[in-house]
Parts: sequence; C-alpha cells; structure tokens
Amino acid sequence: MLKDKKFLRSIKSNLLDFDSVKHTNSTCPSCSGLLTYSQVWTHAVPLAATHVGPFDEFGWSIGECKVCNTEFLVDVVNPDFSDFISGARKVRFILEDGASEADLRFVSCSLRLEDSLDKNLDMNKRSYVYNYEGRSLYECGNCSAGLDQQVYGALLGVFERLRDGSYSYLNWSMKSGGLDPEYIISRLPIVCGCGASLVAYVGKPYSQDHNFAASDFSILNVVGSKKLHDAMKPGIYSKDQVMEWLYKLLPRWTVLFDTIYLMVPFVGHLYMKPEQVVSVWEALISRVDTKKVRLVTKKDQINIFKRAYREHYKVDYSQLEKLKLSPELVNGAVVNSKFHAKVYAASSLFGCEVYSGSANLLTGPSKEVMHFSEISQSDFESSFLKPLGVSAVVPDHAQVKYSFLLDFENDFSAFDRRSTIYSEGYYSLIMHDALP
Ligand SMILES: [Zn+2]
Ligand SMILES: [Zn+2]
Repeated sequence: MLKDKKFLRSIKSNLLDFDSVKHTNSTCPSCSGLLTYSQVWTHAVPLAATHVGPFDEFGWSIGECKVCNTEFLVDVVNPDFSDFISGARKVRFILEDGASEADLRFVSCSLRLEDSLDKNLDMNKRSYVYNYEGRSLYECGNCSAGLDQQVYGALLGVFERLRDGSYSYLNWSMKSGGLDPEYIISRLPIVCGCGASLVAYVGKPYSQDHNFAASDFSILNVVGSKKLHDAMKPGIYSKDQVMEWLYKLLPRWTVLFDTIYLMVPFVGHLYMKPEQVVSVWEALISRVDTKKVRLVTKKDQINIFKRAYREHYKVDYSQLEKLKLSPELVNGAVVNSKFHAKVYAASSLFGCEVYSGSANLLTGPSKEVMHFSEISQSDFESSFLKPLGVSAVVPDHAQVKYSFLLDFENDFSAFDRRSTIYSEGYYSLIMHDALP
C-alpha cells in the first residue's frame, strides 16, 4: 500500500517539505508582466515503524496572466501543489503520469514561460549574520566587560525553545494568511559576571524558511549597556574593525530607525576580483532593508559592481533588474563624484546615530580614523546631508508593519498578548525595555 500511487497521492499534502519551497520569478510570454510561482518537494515521513515518501511528480501548472489574461504553462514539480504567488492565477494543472492524449497535445502547443530566474539569485534576500567572536559592540554599563559573546551564550542556551516558538507562529500565520511580520525579535535577560542584570534584544528578518541558526540573529540593543559612543571611542581602527562594527550596527539601524544613509565614495577597490566586489556589496545589501537606505557613491562604483556581478554569477545584471531581483539599494543610489567624506548613519525623528571618518566600504588591515556620535535629526540634516546636496528620505509610515516578540519570560510563546509588536513600538521596547 505504501508504494501505491493512488494512496500516496491521497496523502501527499502530509508529505510536503515546507523548507523546500522555491519561488521563481518570470515574465508573461505575451505582455512581459512580472510573475512569481512556487514549487514544493516532498520528503519521507515516519509511519507505523516505517516511513512513507518522498513522492514527487512532474507535470505542468497552467496559469493566466492577471494583466492580459493570456494562458501559459510552466514545467514544475508537484503541479498539484505549485501555485502562482503574484502576477497570475492558476487555471489548472496536469500531472505527467496519467496525462490524457488531449492534455499532452495541449502541453505541446501551449505558450510557455521563458526568462525564469530562481529567486535564490534574489539580491533582496536578507541576512543578519553577526560576528559574535569579534570585538564587542555592547559593553556592560557597570564593569565595561564585552557582552556580545555572553548574549550569544544566552541565545544558544534557549535556541531550541525560541525556534519552537517561531515555528508555531509560522504554522499559525500560514493558515491565517495576511501580511508577513517584518522581524523575529527575542528578549533575553542576561546577568554580567559583575552581577549587573541586563536585557538583550536580538532579531533577524522574518522568513518562511526555518533553517536558521542562532548566529543569524543580530544583537539589536542591550538595555543596561554603555552608550555606544563610549564603547566605540573616537580613534584609529583597522578597516576590518570598522567594517565589523558597521555590520553590527546595520541590523540595529534597520529595525530601530527610519532611514539609513551610506555616503561613501568607494565600495571595494580597483584591484579586487569580481567575487570580492560582489561579496562586499552582498554583505552590505543583506543587512539592510533596501527600501530604507539611501546610498550615495561615485558613479563608476555601481557599474563596477554590475560588471563584477555578471562575471561572478554568469547572469547579466539587466536580467535581474527585469525580473525585479536586483536590490533597490543599487537601483536607487545617488551619484555624486565630488566628495571624499565617509558617513554611515541612521536617522529618525528621535535622533541620529552617525559613524563617520575615513573608512570606505572595504576590509583590510590598514588603519582608518572613525567617530561615533549621537545628534539630533535637524543637526544631521544640516551638517551631513545639506553639504552633499542629499535630500532627506521621507519615511513610509503609512503601511502597518509588525514583528513578533519571543520573550524568555513568556517561554518564547508566539501567542502571548505581547507577542505581536507594531513598528511604532520597536524603539521604546528595544531601547528602554518598555514592554507593551
Ligand atoms: Zn500578460
Ligand atoms: Zn558587568
């Protein structure tokens, strides 16, 4: 019975491996409208002392463009569970095994999707990988001990419970539909070696893929730690150290502030190999919400990146642009060829954090001078934006955005009354531990 196709088909929905879901972007063969379709694979599931599956079938999904109503088909695995996420609606599907003569004739003479690119190449994908081994960004407000590794230890100790909480939230949200949350945020009380009690907030962008590790979470803030300008004192640091701190700041800035400004003449340098240029850009892009960032750089930097991308991935960058897989950060960059200042900053009505000095976006041992300061938004705009002719970004507060909070003190439950937090509450929660 366990090998019987009819039986396997009847229980196929229980064999689906949600971690295998793959999204592909493509364009309508008639009007070139953008569309995305999904595929999902099955895996083996234990059943009465043995296991059943995997059971994958090939076939075709037939869709209709939402713009021009043209019908087309696309080759997919498990067409019974493949769907159109956007741009088209599913009309029907055909399984290759058992397809009728008429179906096969239909398949051979129908329009097909071309120009498909796996969303794995999607440069808008996010990652908050945090270097917990490096020099701490957060230090105890009482004894000045570095806290980053201690936060990581606390995170590892509860990680399975945190993942379970996150997983039950995912299951619930997939059934209930609606808008995805922005971030998974966790609240972790820690006790420093000196006896001081602190509260760490860590977070990562929400995704439906649950194959994440503890190091994918970045520290967003530690309540009770020293002010950042006391931990990152003005001084001379290696490029490596400057970049490490910047990479630690970017997730904090993305969650807590309205706009991030990256004003830097050079991203990488002239003699880097294509993969090195691409990796500098990817490390940057993956840590920010590209809708929130204004990048100001020299014009040739963008072209160098696009060329490196083509050489490294063997995919033309214009193809990514066409399929909306290229980052808004690159597409929306402001070009200015007459500046030498390097300014990395986050801005909101409640204030700005500004990390500035001599370091371009580039790793290496050579030394740079850097300062970290907190100033008001009006001072930031008049002292840093105006001289470069950069206009302030008007933040988009219209859309309701929310995250879910997995709190140590609630045993990481995703369904507590304070598990859903709205974007206007992020700052007071994470900076001051003001629980809703
Ligand atoms: Zn169309
Ligand atoms: Zn301490």
